Amino acid sequence: MIERAGTGGWELDFDRRMAHIKREKAKARMLRKSPWWSNKVRNEGKCHYCAISLDLELATLDHIVPLSRGGETTKGNIVISCKLCNTKKADSTPVELLFQQLDL
Ligand SMILES: [Zn+2]
Repeated sequence: MIERAGTGGWELDFDRRMAHIKREKAKARMLRKSPWWSNKVRNEGKCHYCAISLDLELATLDHIVPLSRGGETTKGNIVISCKLCNTKKADSTPVELLFQQLDL
């Protein structure tokens, strides 16, 4: 790694975070191809956030706690989302979304 003066360790944390995101994204891609995901979409069949009906082609995999916030690709941290909600949610946590909705 390149030595950077005065960054207070942030660069290292950044590298570690990027590695985490890359690893978890790769896991998410694998999970999306798994029978678990197709069963989940078939059984639930709607967006977790707006409840619009979704099929396998339209469903996106959303991390409840975003990867960029330390979330992991585990079945408990994954919900079905439509593209619009997934884009709107971006890097927010559920608590932050709630605050956004309350307009505080
Ligand atoms: Zn939605």
